[in-house]
Amino acid sequence: MEIYLDANATTPVLAQARTAALEAMTHDYGNPSSVHSTGLKARALMDAVRSCARRVLGAPSGQVLFLSGATEGIQTAVLSALSSLRGRVGIDCLLYGATEHKAVPEALRHWTQLLGLDLQVLAIPVGRDGRHDLAWLREHAPRAGLVCTMAANNETGVTSDLDGIAAAMAGTSALWMVDSVQALGKMALDLVKRRIDYAPFSGHKLYAPKGIGLLYVREDAPFTPLMAGGGQEGSLRSGTENMSGIAALGAVLAALEDGRTFQDQTTLTAFRDRLAASLEQAFPGLVFNAPPELCLPSTLNFSVPGLSSKLLLDLFDAAQVRVSGGSACSAAKAAPSDVLEAMGLPAWQTASAVRLSFGPASDAEFIDEACKRIRACGAALRANCLSGGEQTPSVGIDGLTRFAVDGACCYLLADADSRRCVVVDPLPQLTERLAQLLSCQRFTLMAVLDTHSHGDHASSAHDWAEAKALVRGRAEQEKAQRS
Ligand code: PLP
Repeated sequence: MEIYLDANATTPVLAQARTAALEAMTHDYGNPSSVHSTGLKARALMDAVRSCARRVLGAPSGQVLFLSGATEGIQTAVLSALSSLRGRVGIDCLLYGATEHKAVPEALRHWTQLLGLDLQVLAIPVGRDGRHDLAWLREHAPRAGLVCTMAANNETGVTSDLDGIAAAMAGTSALWMVDSVQALGKMALDLVKRRIDYAPFSGHKLYAPKGIGLLYVREDAPFTPLMAGGGQEGSLRSGTENMSGIAALGAVLAALEDGRTFQDQTTLTAFRDRLAASLEQAFPGLVFNAPPELCLPSTLNFSVPGLSSKLLLDLFDAAQVRVSGGSACSAAKAAPSDVLEAMGLPAWQTASAVRLSFGPASDAEFIDEACKRIRACGAALRANCLSGGEQTPSVGIDGLTRFAVDGACCYLLADADSRRCVVVDPLPQLTERLAQLLSCQRFTLMAVLDTHSHGDHASSAHDWAEAKALVRGRAEQEKAQRS
């Protein structure tokens, strides 16, 4: 059985959402703009889902629009805000949280350029805890046209201090967008009470299908349609509505409202604590990259000294546990996390971070199995001394060991008594595995030597600077724990 712990990337579709979508496709397939009974039925369904969304989001007034997802909601909000800033005096910048999802800074830059606005796009710094620097915001907000701050971060789960941000912006004319994608169903938003101008949401992050989302727009907030056409959604977002998506989202919102499908905060926190304890047991020395008390109860982001995120991801994947190395959008690139870098975490932590996230519909049985698998992953690593393959010995190393890859050779000269070693003619394919082996067996790497020009194959001597940092990171971690 697969243990899916990547809910911040996307979620499966809830059974009642699937049923609702199928019903909308099979029987209630009308176009809500049609005036015959089939169309009216579709419109009634759409109106009912919108009303439910208003109650769940704490948005009795303003607009709640159906659109394709959060990226579209972000574009619409940014376009709306920026269009209203043309010709405005006293405004010279747009602000976004340094840990914001890529869609936000990219949209700010894109629309600023396209609209020909002379506005700087500035990142609001965050502290080590991932929260916005409110003093910085207070200083810059008076000359900002738009401030974008997510409600909860997709990589770390860190929740923003929305009331603190509102206070820092008080008295300014800046518009405020809160990317609420990761918050839906996990924390109260009170959109109207907090005077948020724009709040995008995405169905697929909470058990609805991909391709359906919501955008809340405060009453009187500037609005410019991104899509012009047939005049759907009161001409605010043209295009025939995604009725099966709306029906499915409606089932999720109804489940949020009736409180029977999703776990409450206390239960989710207890689940997270159990997962955290299993991780700590499985991977001694593990550090959490964000303070749990500030995070969504369903997200853990951690690093293990000496273990790259790639190795951990492979290990989890082999145990059919799906986790991720950061946001799903950047998962394909093996780059350190921008979010953790913005928080000022050490390089080894940003380069080896793993995110584990579960959905609020998870039950105790699922968490039991997840904990069991995590502990099994730890046991597998210990049993193999992180070797992970026949190329590296699982028992103590001493003297000269030869490794061969595709006909090329690399040597490890080790002295077991002094725990010192030298790598000779390093091969790129072995860098990570050897670094892990040395770190696991507590060897100090004294030198990396190339004995020839490597015309026949690539040397990885330059990669070893990084590998040494991994080995050193683990040593420092252990020293800090001892002291
Ligand atoms: N904002 C946040 C915080 C997200 O996590 C995501 C998705 O990863 C998005 C925006 C983009 O959402 P969508 O996939 O609906 O376009």
